[in-house]
Amino acid sequence: MTIPQSSNDAQPKPSGIKVVVVGAGFGGLTAAIECHRQGHNVEIYESFPELKSLGDIISFGPNAGRIFRRWSNGAVVDRMTPLSINLENHGFKIHKWTGELVHTQLAHKPNPEAPVFNGHRGELHTVVFNHAKDDLGIPIHLGQRVTKYFEDETQAGIVFENGNKVTADIVIGADGVRSQARELVLGYFDKPKSSGYAVFRAWFPNTDMIKDPRTKHFCENGDTFNGWIGPDVHFLFSTIKNGQDCCWVLTHKDEEDIKESWSLPGKLEDVYKVIEGWDPLCKAIVEKTPSLVDWKLVYRDPLPKWVSEHGRIALLGDSAHPFLPTSAQGATQAMEDGVVMAICLRRAGKGSVPAAVRAYEYIRYERVTAVQKTGETTRDMWHKADWEAVAKDPASIQLPREDWIFGFDAENNAEAVFDEAVKKFL
Ligand SMILES: Cc1cc2nc3c(=O)[nH]c(=O)nc-3n(C[C@H](O)[C@H](O)[C@H](O)COP(=O)(O)OP(=O)(O)OC[C@H]3O[C@@H](n4cnc5c(N)ncnc54)[C@H](O)[C@@H]3O)c2cc1C
Repeated sequence: MTIPQSSNDAQPKPSGIKVVVVGAGFGGLTAAIECHRQGHNVEIYESFPELKSLGDIISFGPNAGRIFRRWSNGAVVDRMTPLSINLENHGFKIHKWTGELVHTQLAHKPNPEAPVFNGHRGELHTVVFNHAKDDLGIPIHLGQRVTKYFEDETQAGIVFENGNKVTADIVIGADGVRSQARELVLGYFDKPKSSGYAVFRAWFPNTDMIKDPRTKHFCENGDTFNGWIGPDVHFLFSTIKNGQDCCWVLTHKDEEDIKESWSLPGKLEDVYKVIEGWDPLCKAIVEKTPSLVDWKLVYRDPLPKWVSEHGRIALLGDSAHPFLPTSAQGATQAMEDGVVMAICLRRAGKGSVPAAVRAYEYIRYERVTAVQKTGETTRDMWHKADWEAVAKDPASIQLPREDWIFGFDAENNAEAVFDEAVKKFL
C-alpha cells in the first residue's frame, strides 16, 4: 500500500477534521503545523496577550531537527541556525567542580537531515510561531484563556473567560505543565511534585565578560560550552551567537514545596553559597549576571492516560509529560507528539477521530515514558559521579546520545505502525 505523505507545506487534500489546539508553546505550535501539513483545519488559542521572547536556553535533539527540516523545505531550519550554538570547534568541556578538565565531548557530526539546536527559547519560539502564523496562515488567537473543556461522542469544545465557546472534532490540550485540560482528562486535579531540584538560570550579553581577563576567552573565539559537575549539583555555561550572548544554569537541591509560581527571581548570594569552594572561574562568570531566575523543577509520575473518556480531548507535550532538563528532550518530545497526532488523524479520517486519538496515545506512551527517565539517569550519573572511575574512563561522564532517542523519525515511525495501533481502538 502506498501511504500518502506530505513532505512540505503544499496544501494537502483536506481531511475535513477540525482541530483546536490550546497553547502556543513548541508542543501546540508543532501540533498545529503538522495538522496543517496533514490537511486538517486547525486553529490555536493561547492565553498570552502577545508574543514575547521568554525563557533562556532550550535544546532540540536531531529527532526534533528531522521535524523542523520538513517545514517549508528547510526554510525554518535556515532561520533557526544562526540563533543556535555552534560547537563544531569547541565541543562540550566537562570539568570536576574543582576545575580540572576531565573530558571534551566532541560536537555532533553535522547532519543536514537532522540538525540540532540549542539557543534562546524565546528567539527560536518566535521563528516557529511566525512560521505557523505567517508562512502557513494558521489562525493563532492570543489573549484567549481557556477556563473549561467539554466533550460528547461527536465533538469537543473549550470555554473562554468571557463565556464564549468554540467546538471542534478534537481539542488538543497543549497547555503546559499546569494544564487544565489534564484535569478533565484525568477526572481529578493532579498536583505537580517537586523533583527535589531547582535550577538557577540566567541569560545576558557578553559586555562584562569581555572586560574581565579571566572570562573574556569564552566570548572571543566563537561559541563555547562548559560544564562543572559536583556532588548533587551541576553548572553549565554556554556562549552563543559567536560568543555574543552568555547563558548558565545551575541545577541544585531544593526541597521547597511547589507554590503557585514555579519560576521565581533568584539571588546571587544563594548561587554563591552553592558554588563555594568551586573552581573560581564559576564565580567569575556568575558575578557578571544582571538577573536570574530560580526555576523549580516540577515532576509528575507518568499519567495513567492522556485521552478523555470520549476520545475527543488529548493532552500533548508538557501537559501530558513534564521533563527534567537533564534529558534535554522536553520540547523535542512535545514536537514528536504533534507529528504523531496529525498523522493518526489523517490516517483514521473524520469518522474515526476517537480511535485516532487513542492510537496517538498508544504509539507515544511507552517511548515518552522511557525518554522521561533519562532526565533522572543523566542527572544521577553526574551528581553521583565516581571520580576515580571517571579518571579511568573519562568518556563515561559525557552526555548520553542514544540512537533510540536521537535516530528516531517520528513521522516515518507513525506511518509504519499506525494500522496495527488503530486496530485496537476501532
Ligand atoms: C514562558 C515559558 C518559558 C519557558 N522557558 C524555558 C526555558 O528557558 N528552557 C526550557 O528548557 N524550557 C522552557 N520552557 C518550557 C518548554 O518550553 C517546554 O517544556 C517545552 O517546550 C514543551 O512545550 P509545551 O508546548 O508542551 O508547553 P509550554 O511551552 O509550557 O506551552 C504551554 C502554552 O500553553 C499556554 N496556556 C496554558 N494554560 C492556558 C490556558 N488555560 N488557555 C490558553 N493557553 C494556555 C501557555 O501560556 C503556554 O504558552 C518555558 C515554557 C514557558 C511557557
